[in-house]
Amino acid sequence: MHELGIVMNVLEQVDALAAEYKAEKITKVTMEVGEVSTIVPDLFTDAFNWAKKKTDYLTDAALEMIIIEGRTYCRNCGETYRTTEHGKTCPHCGSGDTYLVTGDQVVIKDIDAVFAEQDDRPGQQ
Ligand SMILES: [Zn+2]
Repeated sequence: MHELGIVMNVLEQVDALAAEYKAEKITKVTMEVGEVSTIVPDLFTDAFNWAKKKTDYLTDAALEMIIIEGRTYCRNCGETYRTTEHGKTCPHCGSGDTYLVTGDQVVIKDIDAVFAEQDDRPGQQ
């Protein structure tokens, strides 16, 4: 399953960010996943939960996925329509001169992190 490769890539990016910003741990990763992307959400979740055990900062992280509707634009008539219902053929004019506007993305939308308290003061009880 190719979801695992994408998950590993995401986890590496988030792990690197956590290290860079000195986070204690990552509690949640929110992904935007287009409904016409190649991602199967269930497989992506499984891969995430498996691969996070191997990270430094994401071992307890939750995954949230926001599914983005696929929209296709028609160059011929200028309308947009739902990609999953009509594919590449415009339902308004029947033209095939169309392109996908949104809905194939797989992006990190948000990261929730916990930061260690930076208390360097000596002798404070
Ligand atoms: Zn059209």
